Amino acid sequence: MIRSLPAPLCPLCGTGGDPVHAGLRDFLFAAPGEWSLSRCRDDRCGTLWLDPMPVAEDLHEAYETYMTHVDTDAATSPSRLRRAGHRLMSAYLRARYAPGRSTLSDRLLGPLLYLIPGHRWDADATVFGLKPVPGGRILEVGCGVGAKLEWLEQIGWQAEGLDVDEKVVALARSRKRSVHLGDLFSRRYPDDSFDAIVMSHVIEHVADLSTLMGECHRIMKPGGRLALLTPNADSWGHRRYGAHWMPLDPPRHLHIFTPSSLSGLCERAGFAVERSRTTPRSRGVFLGSRQIARAGRMDFQAPIGLGSRLWMEGMETLEWLRLGVAPLCGEELFTVARKKSAGR
Ligand SMILES: [Zn+2]
Repeated sequence: MIRSLPAPLCPLCGTGGDPVHAGLRDFLFAAPGEWSLSRCRDDRCGTLWLDPMPVAEDLHEAYETYMTHVDTDAATSPSRLRRAGHRLMSAYLRARYAPGRSTLSDRLLGPLLYLIPGHRWDADATVFGLKPVPGGRILEVGCGVGAKLEWLEQIGWQAEGLDVDEKVVALARSRKRSVHLGDLFSRRYPDDSFDAIVMSHVIEHVADLSTLMGECHRIMKPGGRLALLTPNADSWGHRRYGAHWMPLDPPRHLHIFTPSSLSGLCERAGFAVERSRTTPRSRGVFLGSRQIARAGRMDFQAPIGLGSRLWMEGMETLEWLRLGVAPLCGEELFTVARKKSAGR
């Protein structure tokens, strides 16, 4: 049983909310409870949040059966297609983000990824769209097995990560990645430690957003960049699937942002937003939401048939086309914000 308390006000701007979804159950990992979401009444914010909100001390229960990070590297012997995909991705990343480290074949092969925009964005999201700073330090909070750290290092960052899951930290270390066990506060980093801090699908799980953002600001060098990926409450998929939209993920996703509410969060913490957009990497969201709509739950382990694979690639392409006319309708928000220098 996860205890909860009424949460009538928007956790981002303090305005009241209206109920949007009720009677939701955990459709991924069967954590106990029935959940409702409210939407901020201020249209400039529009954040969704759990109301009632789980009590912080009970949140661990929502993760008892949670696969924090699927180990995608563990494939026993990668198929030829997977190996080709890996080669294409590394060529693209070096050509785009570290031209000095790229070979002629990287520069010829890499641009092919532009033909499949959702997959190109998978590559961009792997390095959070950040060109390396010479000798620059980057920290990934919630890094899992550290797959992104490896790519960040490949393009020239000095990368380290943090995770609270003991098992994935052990796995990351066995692969010689610089990963620490614990949350951001446990590390007590000195002021102005990092050139960049990145979080992929982390902030929607965090109860105390302003404390987290304040700590990121403190340990960031002036001019350093914060890059965030998180679900977009204003997405086409949310409109299409409503209460079955996979990224609602109750009760683990405590709040779901809109483009403007995420920008507001960054600005209140002392960052200037440089990029705010939505991405077309949505095939997993569409597949999961369709399963939830049909069966009431999603099974991560279930094999994906060829028909479903083609369908989800098609939906992703359709979303990419929609982004041409409605740039904020993607399933995922991507925001980069810079720590303002003193006096600016
Ligand atoms: Zn609000």
